Formats: sequence, structure tokens, C-alpha cells
Amino acid sequence: MDRLGEERALGLNRGWKHTYEPHSCRHCDWIVLDEADLKAGEGLRGHQLSSLSNVYLADSISDALLARDEGCPLFEYLLGELIDLGLSLDILDLDGSKTVYGSLTDRGLKLSHKLDGDKGIALANILKVILSSGKPSESLDCDPGSPEAFQLSRDWISTCLSSHPRCRLPPSSSNSDAFTPTRLLQVSEHGVRLVESSSVGDEAQTWCALSYVWGGDQPVKTTKKTLAAHYKGIPFDELPRTIQDAVRVCRGLAIRYLWLDALCIIQGDEQDLKRELGKMPEIYLHATITISAAWSTKADDGFLYRRGHWYRFCPPVKLQVLSQTRQGSMSESGEEEEEERRVETMEAYAYETRVWESDPINSRAWTYQEYALSQRALLYRSTLLEWSCRTISDSYGLLEPTTLTSKAAQQPDSNSELNPFFALSSSRPWSEVVGEYSSRHLSFSADKLRALSAIAQVYHRETGKEYLAGLWREDLPLALCWFAVPKTSSRTSTNENSNLDPEDYPRILQARPAGYRAPSWSWASIDDATFVYPAAGEETIQVLRPVPSLNILKAVVTPGSFGEFDSVASGYLDIEGPMREVSSFSSAARLMWSNSPPPGGSGFASGYDEIGVPVGEQGHEVVVTLDAAPEEEKAADGVDKHGSDRTGIWLLLLAEQVEEEEEEEEEEDDEGQNKVNKNTITTPAYAGLVLQELGPDQPDTLRRIGFFHCCDVSQMGLGHASDGCRELLKEFEVRRVTLV
Ligand SMILES: [Zn+2]
Ligand SMILES: [Zn+2]
Repeated sequence: MDRLGEERALGLNRGWKHTYEPHSCRHCDWIVLDEADLKAGEGLRGHQLSSLSNVYLADSISDALLARDEGCPLFEYLLGELIDLGLSLDILDLDGSKTVYGSLTDRGLKLSHKLDGDKGIALANILKVILSSGKPSESLDCDPGSPEAFQLSRDWISTCLSSHPRCRLPPSSSNSDAFTPTRLLQVSEHGVRLVESSSVGDEAQTWCALSYVWGGDQPVKTTKKTLAAHYKGIPFDELPRTIQDAVRVCRGLAIRYLWLDALCIIQGDEQDLKRELGKMPEIYLHATITISAAWSTKADDGFLYRRGHWYRFCPPVKLQVLSQTRQGSMSESGEEEEEERRVETMEAYAYETRVWESDPINSRAWTYQEYALSQRALLYRSTLLEWSCRTISDSYGLLEPTTLTSKAAQQPDSNSELNPFFALSSSRPWSEVVGEYSSRHLSFSADKLRALSAIAQVYHRETGKEYLAGLWREDLPLALCWFAVPKTSSRTSTNENSNLDPEDYPRILQARPAGYRAPSWSWASIDDATFVYPAAGEETIQVLRPVPSLNILKAVVTPGSFGEFDSVASGYLDIEGPMREVSSFSSAARLMWSNSPPPGGSGFASGYDEIGVPVGEQGHEVVVTLDAAPEEEKAADGVDKHGSDRTGIWLLLLAEQVEEEEEEEEEEDDEGQNKVNKNTITTPAYAGLVLQELGPDQPDTLRRIGFFHCCDVSQMGLGHASDGCRELLKEFEVRRVTLV
């Protein structure tokens, strides 16, 4: 909360807190937003924005400075942010004629500055724009435990249940319409007790599920010993604060039943755990609502407390909005739509955005699927109460509910872009799911597959694909194209304009976990985050395709005792493909460490260790990203483990990257810049696995130790292969091996 406090203090210094009269001045008058962008700006409420556009702000930094000096709070705020970032405005303004733009992005209005060529740089991440047709409420204080908040929450729920067709369960789940968890907590005025759902009949059809961070062992949980007592009643005072608050929410929402794992699953009872974990998808899918204790870092934290005044950084500013009224927009004749464009004046508000993603719950692995599977959720965030369902997103405690939300509700076809998280189905690329999930933290690393099992079950149900330790058989071999991304520390920076050098972030590959968790070719076998190359059909610029000579002959995974979507006992791949021993590279005199991001990984994982194998005469390289930190014993024995004497290391070529030719589409750029080069010719790069023989007596059984790609050093990061690369790859010979 320190940061919030600081921000509030910062704002108070600026003295805008209680100013609601919209500001306007000759500098602000220049600014015109396009309504089309703002509609996409449903994302301004913290979600994805589809279109980006530039907003003209001023002729130059000097003009912006002048505006600030003349007392314009908007420019004071925009520029103040730059100064906070430590940027020198003098340096940026070497040529006073450079135009200052604001880029409208999913994070708001971002001040940017056009440099020569097309290297416009974003200077600061600043202004969230909320359009409001009226004055915001005087009170921005957020107390999610207030009668007002509960009334609003009940309204959200009833609106969703009665008039959001998209918030009903997909047909694939309809056969389990009457699902209720085995046990529920019955919440009454008198107290709380555990009940068998079957004993309370239809009443148990309406219940809340709690998603929260345990933060250690639980003081109160249901075990074989406490089960009988819990059926009689659980003293409210003994419950951890977060659970007490969840009970209060149930009362406030007039919902009598609550599900939470620590009390409704018999902890330590393998049989019960196995049965109930298998029901996890249904539990979150069928809960009337998921209560997310988003801010709490442990069960003792609680989440119903006054959040205080949400702070706005800038008083309302009148901005011009170019508005379009379309007539006959449903026309199928292909005729030009009649458009009437007019300029309206609307109020914009600036407020802080970074806290949106900083809630602790977003960094925990277990809660990922709980949220992803929920139909609707009340998120008790650090700063406000947020409503999220598959149709709308709204909040309490920020500003008055805005018109953006209601517009979204009127667009039944707009799919789930507003709440991408709620696209629980196969429409969410698995590569994305793995990327997001694997970057989260687990208290027990052995849970790596288990904490994703509910999502895996739903995917399986929807796609029919076969699960192989975190991958899908049908996605092979491309599903093997992943590489490790060292996790940032828990203070994950969500501010893309952070001025910190990426090198300042501690990004160190973790060692492989001690116990067996998954075959080495599964991302679930490592503790670090994973980047998975998008599979065919997923929207992407760069497309990987398997090399023709590659064949997966057999893929076998033996599940553990909890079934196919949970932990695995063993697994292997029989694979036939082009291979080459590393030591056979003519100029691979030594392996060296380098710091280059893999293709597609830019901005994702800069500054981590790789080994590069320099090959060829013309500066072509095979760059290796290790899956895990080398084992210490090997590093300590004094032998250069990266030296040429290391044997039994092989490269297996999996895929070549194809840049699709740009579609013929004339894009007019106002500045005549950023023209797409239509002569972009297909430029393949190559990618594959780095394998190590298990031992001299098992030359055909290998385990994965890394990922490699081959590209031209001069274009590192872009993934372009050069002739030298292609020459190199000719020397691969097809072998048949087993990967474990
Ligand atoms: Zn102004
Ligand atoms: Zn809804």
C-alpha cells in the first residue's frame, strides 16, 4: 500500500482531488479523440484494446511545456510523468519542431514523440481516458462491505442472470446443469456449518465459490478428524479473516451457500481429494458467482475494508471527440456506409492504472483456473470492487459506472473481448494459457500440473484432444517448441515504460525440480515460465511449421493416481527427425553464454542466460536457451561444462519458421511512413530441441535440456535465417530416438 499512499500524496500536492469542474484551455482544445478508438477502449477498463491510434497533442515538447506553464493540468500531468521517469525534456526537444503525439493504447493515452524515421517512441504511460456523460459522483470512496456495494453487487448478479445470454454455460456443459459440489458451507445468521449438498436439495443450486490465496497452512480446515464437528458448526470467530469476509459477502448477497477448498474438501484424505479435484471445473463453472479475494496474500488478510478515496491524477478535462453516426451499418450490399461525423465535447479523466494488475491473486498459479472458469466474479481488488462476467465488466469505487459498460452490453456479438479471461473454451490459445499460467507462482512445485487440471479438463471436453503432461497430442510436434523464460521476482513490473534496464531485473533460470514431475519435453518439467510458440491456426505473424522429415512415432504418458489431467508418473516420445551432434560442428570450438532473446521473445525475456554455439564462417549462430540452470555439481567440478569436450549433446530440428507474405493491402499512412515492404520474401528460421544422451549405454534415449533456434546474428531476435543457416542445417541426418 506504500505506493498507493505515495500516489495519493502526489495527487494531493497537485491539489486536484476535489475539483470536478471540467478543465478546458487553448492547448487542450487541439486534442481530438476518435470515438471509434474509444469504443474499442472498452479495454480502457483494464482489458485488451484492439486498435491503437495516435492522438495529436502538441506541435512540440516546447509547446507542451508552454501549456504546462500556462496552467493546463493535463499537460502538467503528462509532462510530470516524464520528469518522474527521469527523462530530460531538453534532450527530447533538440529539434523543437517534432510533434508530440499521444498513443491511445490499452493502457490509456500515452504520450509519444515522433523521432526521425518511424521510430516513434513512447515517452510515458499516462492517461486513462474515461468518457462520461455526466459528472462523476463526488464520492470515490470504496467500501466493498457497505450496503451500497452489496446492493450494486446484487444488481450485477440479477442483471447477468436475467439478461446476459452469453453468460449462460456453453452447451457442452449443459448435461451437468444441476451440478452442486459434494459439500458446501451453509451460511446463516446464526453461524456457519458444513453440509452435504445432497441433504439440502435444490436450495444448494445457488452458491458462491471463493478464490483466494492460502498463504501457508490453514488454521481451520476440514480433515477426517474435524469433519463431524464441522457438520455441526464452525465457530465464526475461528475462521481466518478472508473466509469470514466471504461469509459476510454471502450474507450481503443473500446467497446461503459457500464453497471453498480448505473446508469443503477433506484435506489430507487422498480419496476425497482425488474425487473433488476432478470436480474443480464444474465447481467454478457452476458457481453462481466466484468471490475473488484478489488483494489478500493470505487467508488472514480479509478483503472487506474501506479502500479509501480512489485518487484521480488530473481534474476532468474537456476533450473533443470525433463521433461517427452510421446509418444502415448492417447493410450487406457492400455499399459505402453513410457516415456523419461530428465533434462532441466530452469529459476525460486521468487516473492511475498500474494497480490494476498488481493484485497478489494474479501471481498465483492455483487461482488462474478458478478465475478462468468462472462465469461471473466479484473481484475484491486492492483499490476497488470489480464485477466481471462474460458480457460486461464494471466497478465500484472508481468513478460512476461509465457508459462504456452499457455499450458493451448492447453488443451481443462482440464475443468475449471485454473479458478475455472468460473465454474459457478452446477459443483461448493453449500457448497463451501455458504462457500465463506458467509465469505464476506455486507454493508446492509438485502442483504444477494439478493447478491447471481443471482448465485442461475443460479443453479436453471441448476439443477432444488428448492430454500429454501439459501438451496436446494433436498439437505435436509444434507443442514441443517452447522455451524457458526466467520468472521475474514477485514484484512483476506491469509498467511497460519502466525505465529500469532489463538487466536490473533478477532473471535467473531455476534448476530443474528435484522430484520427477513430467517428461523433460513438457514445459511442466521446469519451474520457470514458458513461452510456447503459437500453434497452427492461432493468430500470429510468424508461423512455425514442422520440418517434413520429422515424425512423432509414439507419444506415451502414464498418469499418476489422480487421472490423466493431473500429475504424471512417466512419459516418453518416440521421435524420428533430423539430428546432429553438437560437437560435430566444425567451428564449435566452444559454447558461449550470450544474452540474446530468442525470436518472438523480444520484450518477453531479455537479459537471461543462453548458450550460443557459433557456427559457420559468416556469423551465423545456433542460439540455445537452456530449460533450467545447469546442475551445480557439474559446474563445480572445475570442468568447463560448456566446453567442446562435452559430448552426447544433440540438436533435433523440429520446425522452420515461415513468414507469410503480407496480404495485398494498401495501408495509407498519414506520414507516408511504416509502409509495409511488399517484397518480404519467405525467410525461414529453424528451431528445435537440445537433447542430451542419458548415458553412454543408452545412446538412443535422450532428455531435453534446451531449445535452439538458428538465425542470422545480425538480425538476432527477428528470427531470419540466412543462407549460412540453411547450409548448416543440411548436415542434419535423420535418426530415431526416444525422448524421456
Ligand atoms: Zn488544458
Ligand atoms: Zn453476465
